[in-house]
Amino acid sequence: MVSKHRVDPRFAAVNAALERAHNVASDYIESLATRPVAILPTPAEMAAALNEPFPEKGTDPGDAVEEWFVRARPGITASSGPRFFGFVVGGTTPAALAGDWLASAIDQNAGLWAASPAAVQTELVVLDWLKSLFHLPAEWTGAMTSGATMSNLVGLAAARQWAGQRLGFDAAGEGLSGNPLIPVVSSEEIHTSARKALATLGLGRTSVRIVPSIGGAADIAALRAELATIPGPAIIVANAGEVNSGAFDDLNAMADLRDAHPGGAWLHVDGAFGLFAAASPSLSHLTAGIERADSVASDAHKWLNVPYDSGFAFVRDHANLKAAFAISASYLIPSDTFDPMNHVPEMSRRFRALPAWCALKAYGRSGMVDMIERCVANTHDFTAFVEATPGLELVSPAPLNIACWRFAPEGMSEPDRDAFNQAAINRMRETGAIYATPTIRNGHAAIRCAFDNWSTTEADIAILKQTVAALIPA
Ligand SMILES: *Cc1c(COP(=O)(O)O)cnc(C)c1O
Repeated sequence: MVSKHRVDPRFAAVNAALERAHNVASDYIESLATRPVAILPTPAEMAAALNEPFPEKGTDPGDAVEEWFVRARPGITASSGPRFFGFVVGGTTPAALAGDWLASAIDQNAGLWAASPAAVQTELVVLDWLKSLFHLPAEWTGAMTSGATMSNLVGLAAARQWAGQRLGFDAAGEGLSGNPLIPVVSSEEIHTSARKALATLGLGRTSVRIVPSIGGAADIAALRAELATIPGPAIIVANAGEVNSGAFDDLNAMADLRDAHPGGAWLHVDGAFGLFAAASPSLSHLTAGIERADSVASDAHKWLNVPYDSGFAFVRDHANLKAAFAISASYLIPSDTFDPMNHVPEMSRRFRALPAWCALKAYGRSGMVDMIERCVANTHDFTAFVEATPGLELVSPAPLNIACWRFAPEGMSEPDRDAFNQAAINRMRETGAIYATPTIRNGHAAIRCAFDNWSTTEADIAILKQTVAALIPA
């Protein structure tokens, strides 16, 4: 071990500052199950807590860390805690958090092999482990990203490159101007992050050709009809785990349409959280056919429960992914192994693979599958309660880990029900016990609960049920 006695004076302050951060973090984590899940101060309150002129003089590093925590505390949501059911967030497992701290301490640049062989090889191992966990073909390439939005961007950039090549141009090289359009087709459930990625890629946020969905899943007959209007290559965006309801597109049917399209087609799957169904023998029917996709996007900071920000993308075709992102320059040192910067939009990047490696190593396949199945059991526990309780209504079936439901008090008009549900979101949050988030389904206000935190127990679900039951009008 390194001797503590001869710390270079330049680094002497590090341990003291880390210890202060460790103390703050330990206290916070201990309070996670009991503190209010979210307070949501007003913007004025938050500004009053944090705004100050840029300090002319410095502060002790440990003091700075602790002062920030004390001042910011009201605005910290317990989104990594067991009763934050809003959006789709996930927490951070012990191994993942410890790995993340170490990633900061060793501060590697995971952009290219020559900058950190350890970081790059770890990323390759993590990608292999994830392909194994999700039963995806081992020969696919991939990369870690900052989240599913970037994973969608990575998969769709490879798709764009492929389509350009079919149409006779190099999309990344010469750009799209003056070249034929590349049609993109998806269902009305396409996630906004895929639209954002398409906007960034010059394929257009609103020019996606949208087909209807049935119960959250793309209408395959409508998709077939839409593809029939496209003579050349097309990009199909499938949703495996739609964010409002957790519904899945029929990936085998979509892969069949891809195979049959005369102009050729690329099947990109957004599986930000839904891909995790593929890990469990009892859930993998939901993602059947995903191994036939051309690219798959997913998130690590959601259901893998690693800290922000972390995601990953897999692409079948190495050449198109590299053509989309590869660069070279006199000041870089290329390797013949793997330079992540040639697979993703960034150059320098955080060593995200380390927290993921620690989490996957600490849990193993059985631990990961257990965690996923526990989250799904929590979901079903809650949806069974919703279905059994007068005054509540399940808005859509919950095949995975998202429950979409609402208050539907007897004798209340639909507009009043909408207003009631919108207000209920805040009333539930104000109890401090739980946090759920709103959506609109079938034109009416609804409530979403996502169950993807590793630490949520039956007792937490009981608190969720009590909090909901208390709001049902007598
Ligand atoms: C969360 C989510 C995304 C976007 O992921 P980020 O991690 O927020 O970038 C994309 N697609 C789906 C289905 C999601 O649930």
